[in-house]
Amino acid sequence: MLKIDVITIFPGLFTPFLDESMVGIARREGLVETATHDPRGFADDRRGTVDGAPFGGGPGMVMSPGPLVDAIEAVAGPRGSERSGWVVLLSPQGRRLDQAKLQELAIREHVVLVCGRYEGVDQRVVDLAIDEEISMGDFVLSGGEIPAMLLIEGMARLVPGVLGNPESVVVESFQEHLLEGPQYTRPVEYRGLRVPDVLRSGDHGAVARWRRERAIEVTRQRRPDLLGEIES
Ligand code: SAM
Repeated sequence: MLKIDVITIFPGLFTPFLDESMVGIARREGLVETATHDPRGFADDRRGTVDGAPFGGGPGMVMSPGPLVDAIEAVAGPRGSERSGWVVLLSPQGRRLDQAKLQELAIREHVVLVCGRYEGVDQRVVDLAIDEEISMGDFVLSGGEIPAMLLIEGMARLVPGVLGNPESVVVESFQEHLLEGPQYTRPVEYRGLRVPDVLRSGDHGAVARWRRERAIEVTRQRRPDLLGEIES
């Protein structure tokens, strides 16, 4: 079972996402447990203020350390050996997410996702309470909520029992540093394009060889950088 806590000032964004589709089923079956926590509840004023103007000037607001650190410590405990959760800040400054990172996170028992907003979070949140920063890529979004959903979906499908067929996660893109090759379903012919005969031959060895060759071909065309990792 994977427990995921999300710290966000927009918990409502997660409601439909957590209720629907694969993540919703995984939660109902007790394979993934989720909870959201609003740092406004940890603010020290009645308005629930969680941001302030940046020291040194500049545009926008910065998320204050107090409410965020208190929210993180309430769900994961203070940083150190006794801490129950692995605390991730979604951040453009983080390490870029890949499948290997998702696999690493999915085998943890408890992951805490911290969503930034505004111009980002006060550095002391990172210094005091964050175990790791993860980025979705070299672009900037307005908040960490969609990155957090992306992480939840990517982790949840790797939890044993969540996908109907456990083979699914073994044969897909980025396993063995390869993209997945082309796939086909019925009908055999569509607008003059036929399913390759080998896939209907019943020869499992030939199918496996064809798939691997196509995977290498697609990877060579689109992501030669990945192939370098298996050829070196
Ligand atoms: N001022 C920051 C900068 O230039 O790096 C950008 C802050 S962004 C507008 C607000 C929040 O969105 C961030 O604190 C982070 O939580 C989230 N965010 C934006 N882009 C992201 C990305 N590529 N990956 C992960 N989180 C991102």
